[in-house]
Amino acid sequence: MADRLIHDAAAVLSIGDELILGQTLDTNSAWLSARLTELGVRIVEHATVDDDCEAIASALRRLAGRARLVIATGGLGPTIDDLTRRALADALGEGLVEDGQMLSAIRLYFAARGTEMPENNRLQALRPESASALGNAQGTAPGLHARLEIDGASADCFCLPGPPNEMRPMFEQFVMPRLNPPAGGVIRTRVIGTFGLPEATIAERLGELMARLRNPVIGTTASGGTVSCRIRFTGAAEEADEAIAQAERAVREAVSPYDFGADDETLASATLKELRRAGERLVVAESCTGGGLGALLTDVPGSSDVFCGGWITYADAMKLGALGVDKSTLRARGAVSEEVAIAMARGALRAAEEAGAPAQHALAITGVAGPGGGTKDKPAGTVWIARASDRGGEIEVDARRFLFPGERRAVRLRSALTAMAMLRLALIGAGPVKLLGQQG
Ligand code: ATP
Repeated sequence: MADRLIHDAAAVLSIGDELILGQTLDTNSAWLSARLTELGVRIVEHATVDDDCEAIASALRRLAGRARLVIATGGLGPTIDDLTRRALADALGEGLVEDGQMLSAIRLYFAARGTEMPENNRLQALRPESASALGNAQGTAPGLHARLEIDGASADCFCLPGPPNEMRPMFEQFVMPRLNPPAGGVIRTRVIGTFGLPEATIAERLGELMARLRNPVIGTTASGGTVSCRIRFTGAAEEADEAIAQAERAVREAVSPYDFGADDETLASATLKELRRAGERLVVAESCTGGGLGALLTDVPGSSDVFCGGWITYADAMKLGALGVDKSTLRARGAVSEEVAIAMARGALRAAEEAGAPAQHALAITGVAGPGGGTKDKPAGTVWIARASDRGGEIEVDARRFLFPGERRAVRLRSALTAMAMLRLALIGAGPVKLLGQQG
């Protein structure tokens, strides 16, 4: 391979109508960014363009003016809407030539499968004059590598096929060996999850830690109901661990006790971890979430050692029959009430014991997910969540009323997450901690 190149910044270009139309989720740029970040390259931009030659060429030129490494994916197939080869040639101001070696490789690909190469595939052996072709062991589309000169600066441009199973090994084979970490050293990241405070409050608590020019730099992202604090260090490899550890301590101190997990850990996996640490088990009784809490918990592999299961008691008859909720309580207080939430949680502990799967904790959720079904006293978004914990002696009960904004799906997700947060906070002995949406 040619000399290793110094690349301190990279841009990723995704090409394809199906990406623009939302028919295909662009996982290539997420994967490339994660991989490049690990390798110490800073990502400055993601761009997406449709299958339009001019749009691809101008995006390549623009990105080459921003970053010394540009990686494009897609548009290298054999059909007339695969325009990346032509666009790269236009961006370089060159014509296309046929690459004899690539043509043989494509022919061989078909021969190995017992067929002749369709004439269309010949197009895939074309490359801009100054570009080199990159072999594709998984498919027919070769990749391309070229140097784009923009205003005196030069950028390495790699065009890789769209299918992730072709693109990823080609990245490892052709791009990775040519990367050097930035002159400053490495990039190291750490993500800390938080749940229960709005993003603005988290940012307020972080205060000066979020100043843009700090290293490590710290930012927040709200996604899937949780707010994560992202720490990114750029610098000498030997300083990275300590810098990240220090920043992590400062972030946790600022947002405690709402912080959970690190990096890929979810609120569910962090909750299960605390249960495991305590040597205790959990059951659930769900009404308005219809199994959403159980689904989040069982999304985590290996959860069965601490999560026993539960009951989806959507109809009142199930609350009565399966969990032993008292009929008169249900009538007097309504299904969405403190009394019913507590009775569901207590009933779940009892029923689990009877089923031969005793648990120390039960979480119960009953609410009005909306959009209909609300009343003046209990508008849509009103949810009661109860935790009952039996650790010998008297059963400890914690029931809270919430009002969650947003549409049905958001209310249901937030209910499930909040129930987990109530349990996690109890397990770490955090005391009474108010959570977002809590009333009173
Ligand atoms: P091929 O000749 O193998 O089709 P190509 O470079 O022409 O390669 P495209 O036609 O652009 O690739 O895309 C082929 C498929 O690859 C898409 O239908 C999609 O499934 C997947 N793909 C393309 N781009 C992306 C992306 N950014 N993220 C995830 N998948 C993608």
